[in-house]
Amino acid sequence: MPKGVHFPSAEYPLSIDCPLCRHGHTDFYHRDERRSYRQCRRCDLVFVPPADRLSPAEEKAHYDLHENDPSDRGYRRFLSRLFEPMRERVPVPARGLDFGSGPGPTLSLMFAEAGYDMALYDPYYAADSGVLQGRYDFITASEVAEHLYRPGAVLAQLHGLLRPGGWLGLMTKLICDRAAFATWHYRRDPTHVCFFSSRTLAWWAEQAGCDIFFIGQDVILLHKPLSSAFT
Ligand SMILES: [Zn+2]
Repeated sequence: MPKGVHFPSAEYPLSIDCPLCRHGHTDFYHRDERRSYRQCRRCDLVFVPPADRLSPAEEKAHYDLHENDPSDRGYRRFLSRLFEPMRERVPVPARGLDFGSGPGPTLSLMFAEAGYDMALYDPYYAADSGVLQGRYDFITASEVAEHLYRPGAVLAQLHGLLRPGGWLGLMTKLICDRAAFATWHYRRDPTHVCFFSSRTLAWWAEQAGCDIFFIGQDVILLHKPLSSAFT
């Protein structure tokens, strides 16, 4: 290959496995000025291949720029889109985990103010792995799923931490179609590496034996049945 010639993603080998379902057949989906994107033939996930992702240090530097402030009413209003439907389904007292709580934990504070017993986990800002040994009545992951390098392993782990009858609440913007993807602002954040469609999440819910509820554009609730073969 002549020096300087860049192989387009369409010609990458098909051996880039899907990070959600591990399926080996993924296809070119899109390329922009910075990264390529592939789509899984089985679960429909669109993802950034490992070679195009940020390093952990670059990722952390980007997160440090996020200014999440628990006293910011606009931010609380944004989080209430996940908080309210969870609160309707999970009565107090209950124990919850906010996974991926970020540099300014706010959602966990909202639940604590409402009387819930909350734990936090974040790989960069609250990396107490003991928290991941507990069992929870509900788990929230707001603006987390799109950041996951290993979404299959992480979602399976969260599912495993839920008690039977528990709820997993996700907030992530859902992919619409290829034409919309090309101009989608959500794609441009360099820390966003996984893009779920409703079909992807429905596929995952079926595999996990969960019921799934789509609330609005970007809130997804998954309910682990009381008697689950997957606990
Ligand atoms: Zn897949």
